[in-house]
Amino acid sequence: MERKTIKKFEALVGEDGVLSTPEDLAVYSYDGTFADRRPDLVLLPSSTEQVSRILELAFAEKMPVTARGMGSGLAAASVPSEGGIVLSSARMNRIIELDEENYMVLVEAGIVTADLQAAVEKRGLFYPPDPSSNRQSTIGGNIACNAGGPRCLKYGVTGDYVMGLTVVLPDGKILKTGGKTIKDVVGYDLTSLFTGSEGTLGIITEALLKLVAKPASVKTVRADFPRLDDASGTVTAILKRGIVPATIELMDETAIACIEESAHLGLPLDIEALLIIESDGFDERAVAREIETITKICRDHGAREVTLAGSEQERSRLWSARRAVSPSLARKAPNKLGEDITVPRSAIPETIRRIKQISSEHGLPIVVFGHAGDGNLHPNILFDLRNPDHRAKVDIIAGQIFKAALAVGGTLSGEHGVGTLKRSYVTEALGSISIDVQKRIKAALDPANIMNPGKVLPD
Ligand SMILES: Cc1cc2nc3c(=O)[nH]c(=O)nc-3n(C[C@H](O)[C@H](O)[C@H](O)COP(=O)(O)OP(=O)(O)OC[C@H]3O[C@@H](n4cnc5c(N)ncnc54)[C@H](O)[C@@H]3O)c2cc1C
Repeated sequence: MERKTIKKFEALVGEDGVLSTPEDLAVYSYDGTFADRRPDLVLLPSSTEQVSRILELAFAEKMPVTARGMGSGLAAASVPSEGGIVLSSARMNRIIELDEENYMVLVEAGIVTADLQAAVEKRGLFYPPDPSSNRQSTIGGNIACNAGGPRCLKYGVTGDYVMGLTVVLPDGKILKTGGKTIKDVVGYDLTSLFTGSEGTLGIITEALLKLVAKPASVKTVRADFPRLDDASGTVTAILKRGIVPATIELMDETAIACIEESAHLGLPLDIEALLIIESDGFDERAVAREIETITKICRDHGAREVTLAGSEQERSRLWSARRAVSPSLARKAPNKLGEDITVPRSAIPETIRRIKQISSEHGLPIVVFGHAGDGNLHPNILFDLRNPDHRAKVDIIAGQIFKAALAVGGTLSGEHGVGTLKRSYVTEALGSISIDVQKRIKAALDPANIMNPGKVLPD
């Protein structure tokens, strides 16, 4: 990038808010996938006004701008695939207002999800959306991907908690959406439009989020299943009884083996799957009764053992293990492609069977874990990027997994988004009329196509 342009950005955000050395640019060139492209410049604004001035300039010069939270995304959505500017939210991480009376919090987009959760929990409040990456992701990134997590079974996804947004549009104008009223049906729902838009329509700088009261009682069990089919059948059996636990997480045998190798939790290695099921609420006895019923259903459906986490320490060890699944897969293979299909709950057993079949056809391991309670599975393909045969097979396998999901009435992503990795499949998933409507929305808001170009929608 020309020195005079860099100087203009330095005037907006200060010299220390502009990064341009090759080492700095390399750090902002990838996310949680294996995609990689260097930006020309990284900017670290510290206010909505600075973001607005940056976009005015980028719009005038037709420079691509890619928003970046913590780069933990799993769809290559924050990788600047056409170069240009990476706009990091790292310096915009304040809690602006905690409104305890209305159960709402106003934050800057760069706040780390776990920091927000910890801050509100100190006041007896609760922000339920809990991506397993909550220590490595920002609220802005969560909103841009409409992130989910284990607790979404009972509590819903990030979008269910977004009451309003401040968004800087591609030409620098500042848009405010929503507000503190619980009901609001005036005009189109622009808050929802920007939620899940993966930084392709504007930069989110502030978010007003809904909170709930922190549940007083939480109980967690681990159920060990010799047969994977029984574990997935149990998920449906629990929900059919009218019980909605806070979480039902599933891990298959390879996931269990990888965690055990890295965390040594004493998990059984002779089972095909385990479920982590958590109930929460305000009446301790009601929560205890619910967990007893769940335990019985698990046993009736083939669980060999069901173990209640007897202390907060045991419970948090179980959840650390769950969070460790994805990173621990590195023990099995140097690379992985973490997919994110969602299927109707009743189709979980059939989908897992199809995935295992795809794995044995191609001779590459596919680990399956995920938020089984809401049908959101993460089949992770393990491979070695240096092996050309593996590289060719991974794309074919991913395509077959997507087709398997669509065939049972499912979809391509429940929470990670499309980024660049799933772009070529979205027309099949959504249909050409939907894609045409979405392209027209994109063109209306971003006529110069500077906002995270090359993402989400096909060319
Ligand atoms: C180990 C691991 C576990 C994970 N577990 C989960 C999980 O349980 N649930 C889940 O949903 N995801 C999960 N993810 C994926 C990822 O953490 C989420 O997609 C997360 O929401 C990304 O947040 P981020 O701040 O890292 O965003 P980034 O990766 O930096 O960006 C993601 C997208 O958001 C856009 N964006 C970021 N900030 C803004 C902004 N301020 N305005 C506009 N657009 C913006 C980017 O341009 C990009 O398109 C996991 C990832 C890892 C590595």
